[in-house]
Amino acid sequence: MTLAELENFLSRWGKERYRARQVSRWIYQRFAEDFMAMTDLSKSFREELSRECLISSPPAERVETSSDGTEKFLFRLEDGETVESVLIPEEDRRTLCISSQVGCALRCGFCATGAMGFRRNMTSAEIVHQVCFALKRLAEKRERLTNVVFMGMGEPLENAREVSKTIAILLSQFGFGISGKRVTVSTAGVVPAMLALAEEFPVSFAVSINAPTDALRSALMPVNRKYPLKELVTVMKSIPLRSDRKVTAEYVLLGGVNDSEKDACGLARLLKGARVKVNLIPYNAHEHGDFTSPSGETVNRFRDVLLAAGIQAITRERRGGDIRAACGQLRGAAQAKTP
Ligand code: SAH
Repeated sequence: MTLAELENFLSRWGKERYRARQVSRWIYQRFAEDFMAMTDLSKSFREELSRECLISSPPAERVETSSDGTEKFLFRLEDGETVESVLIPEEDRRTLCISSQVGCALRCGFCATGAMGFRRNMTSAEIVHQVCFALKRLAEKRERLTNVVFMGMGEPLENAREVSKTIAILLSQFGFGISGKRVTVSTAGVVPAMLALAEEFPVSFAVSINAPTDALRSALMPVNRKYPLKELVTVMKSIPLRSDRKVTAEYVLLGGVNDSEKDACGLARLLKGARVKVNLIPYNAHEHGDFTSPSGETVNRFRDVLLAAGIQAITRERRGGDIRAACGQLRGAAQAKTP
């Protein structure tokens, strides 16, 4: 629940407004998983909460650590489904990559999550729990979470309602208190939902462009038939005007498919005049796709074309590849257990 929902909920029990703030802090800032631990609430109130409410905290069934320090967590949800999140340490940052759906309906040809198809939307409680889990883990090492990215399993804007609630909690001072600048919603390009979310929250956006033409993009990403490049680039141009920040354009480099100099020139033309920064992501291999990753030389050449055209571009470092935690590799456990 967001603070507003919690206030509303508790007011029906005749509780004062500040009670909602207390409960909110216990859950999102002190990671309480049991109402009885909320010792500044009366015993009878705590008992009432325990009877009527649940603090969702799906166990992390598997924790894997990469040789580069990246950690991947596999959560088993109440109905037996599984999702993963990835905690990426950098020198001055701790970035958590979270999932918003079990599977994904968009079926981008290069993505392991897409290959499993759509199973269901995650609830805001399930999405938020990934953040609580990481925060708690970091707190044990006296570290703090700096960034949250919706770049795990699923298309966040196909689950806009629960994602929007999650963002409200991430940004709230009674929730996680993270600045919108440090929360990035990555989308395959669900245009109307992107505009609506940008209207609602000052978060950062990343758009998975992945191809310079509609023909190629539609072949790789079926969602392009619904929201073609022209519309997508138009929103990418309009969003930073509101938030005063560059939109990230993500571009998965698939060997021999979208990685030529001509493709790079096409991308540069497409993005001309947009306040964007490009993140190049060399394809991460997985057993559900048969693409190849381009050579380092090809990646650099592609980047240099963009730079020469005056477009900010970097190659995203591959993190957690040895534990299948890199971009596009998340899938959850092979088979969901029957609950
Ligand atoms: N559905 C959202 C969130 C997923 S973010 C979106 O599409 O943006 C995951 C990022 O990884 C996207 O930019 C996606 O294009 C990219 N990606 C997917 N599969 C990949 C792979 N196998 N290798 C590298 N990047 C991949």
